[in-house]
Amino acid sequence: MASNFNNRFKSKEGKRAFMNAAYAPTELEYTQYMLALERSAVFVVEEVVPIMGSFQAVYRVRLRQRLCDCGRFQQLHRPCRHVIAACAAIGVEWAPYCDPV
Ligand SMILES: [Zn+2]
Repeated sequence: MASNFNNRFKSKEGKRAFMNAAYAPTELEYTQYMLALERSAVFVVEEVVPIMGSFQAVYRVRLRQRLCDCGRFQQLHRPCRHVIAACAAIGVEWAPYCDPV
């Protein structure tokens, strides 16, 4: 569990925000810490089964900067599967990461 936690939340700010959210006494504080986590964290998403055309198994996702190692998030201006996995990990919606058409 500890190594999984360290792998998932690489940045110190992300780890701090996650722990603060876990112990937040109010829903408002929880929401604020989760937003801080979303802004600061680098998520590491590992594909368990390689998908056709994919040669990489581990991808770093930065939600705030709208970056993913696969490049689809930047190119298509909508969440790739790694972004959706990162959003699911912290319980936020992925739809706000879709640019308006
Ligand atoms: Zn991706």
